[in-house]
Amino acid sequence: MLAVTKIEQCPKCGSQNIVKNGFTRHKNQRVLCKDCQKTVVLRRKKTPLIDLKAVARSFLERLSLCGVSRVFAISYYTVYQQLDLACLLLPNFRTQVTDSKQTNYTLEFDELCGFCGSKKIKQWLWAALCKETRQIVAYVIGDRSEKTFRRLVRKIPLAYLRCQSFSNHWKSYRLLCSKGNHEQVGKETGKTNHIERYWATLRARLSRYVRKSLSFSRKLKYHHLVTKLFVCNYNQECINTF
Ligand SMILES: [Zn+2]
Repeated sequence: MLAVTKIEQCPKCGSQNIVKNGFTRHKNQRVLCKDCQKTVVLRRKKTPLIDLKAVARSFLERLSLCGVSRVFAISYYTVYQQLDLACLLLPNFRTQVTDSKQTNYTLEFDELCGFCGSKKIKQWLWAALCKETRQIVAYVIGDRSEKTFRRLVRKIPLAYLRCQSFSNHWKSYRLLCSKGNHEQVGKETGKTNHIERYWATLRARLSRYVRKSLSFSRKLKYHHLVTKLFVCNYNQECINTF
């Protein structure tokens, strides 16, 4: 019987002068090439098959990036890959929003603070919620200025803009007051209750929007992706419920 010995080589320079150099986080043997100083994993352990859809879904159950990586024993890279893929497969946001044929629909506006990159960099999530269908009609992420609010208004379908709307007393909302069907009210009136409740759900499901949380995105791209994933999933649930 012949025994086959496989000689390990450095993938960069082809040298056989390699030594063991500890393990990775997922217990794969790391080796070091003594000639070119490259550290590499030559033979990766086969990971058990995982439900890839569950990876993206777990972001909506308050798991952070590190949490998802630990639960499924996959690298950060694979987690991000799955998140990218899940967002690509989402239905089109515009076609998801129910057509407003009724002018007696009511819109509620509000903004919510989140972080990205560091605690000092605030990213405000602005949204318009339809009280009757409970869907998010439009949303944007940006600073708290009027410029960002204008971006939000441009995203709202025209039929919804004709509806009655409510918001808090933040100065940017004055822009809509000239239209005649917008009112700035306090929280005590209860006219923005639905969107306030929506923020509570969002904070319960997305770790990135939890107050004093450390699990916020380091990159703006992923902050946007996770928010989109949540909003689209929620809008879809609304279609099935109402
Ligand atoms: Zn080498």
